[in-house]
Amino acid sequence: MSELRIGLGIDLHRLAPGRACMVGGIEVPSPVGPAGHSDGDAVLHAACDACLGAAGMEDLGTLFPDSDAAHAGRRSADFCHEVRRRLEGAGWCVLSMDVVVETEQPRLRAWRDTVRASLAALFGVDAGAVNLKGKSGEGMDAVGRGEALRATAVVLLGR
Ligand code: MG
Repeated sequence: MSELRIGLGIDLHRLAPGRACMVGGIEVPSPVGPAGHSDGDAVLHAACDACLGAAGMEDLGTLFPDSDAAHAGRRSADFCHEVRRRLEGAGWCVLSMDVVVETEQPRLRAWRDTVRASLAALFGVDAGAVNLKGKSGEGMDAVGRGEALRATAVVLLGR
C-alpha cells in the first residue's frame, strides 16, 4: 500500500412507523424505521459516502439521485456493490471502517456484531477492521426526540 486516504460520511433519516429498520444492510426489529426514497439505510449511505469521498469520487446523492424513480425503494446494498465496483476499478480497497449510529430506538447493542459482519461483507473488509457504536441523542435534537437516526462513518482506503 503506497497510498492511503481517509473519508467521512454522514447521513440522517427521519424515522417513521412501519418502515423496515435497515441498519448496515440488516433489518433490525423496531416499531420505527428510516423513511427514504431507497430503503433508508443511513449507515450504508454514510459508509458509501465515506468511501466515495476518500477516493475523490462523486457523492452518493449524485450517483443515485433521489429524484430518479429508478432508485425508489432500492436496497442500499445495491449502492454498496456499485461503490465497491468503482473503488476497485480505481485500485482502492477499504482497510478499515468505523461507524457511529445515533438513535433513540432501536437499541443496537444486540445487533452490533451482525451489522459489523454485514458491513465487512458488503465492503470487502476484514470484520475485525469494522467497528460500530450506538449512541443515544440525550433528548436534545431530532435524534434525541426519537424523530431521526443519524449515522457517521469514517473509512481508510488503501491502494
Ligand atoms: Mg440517506
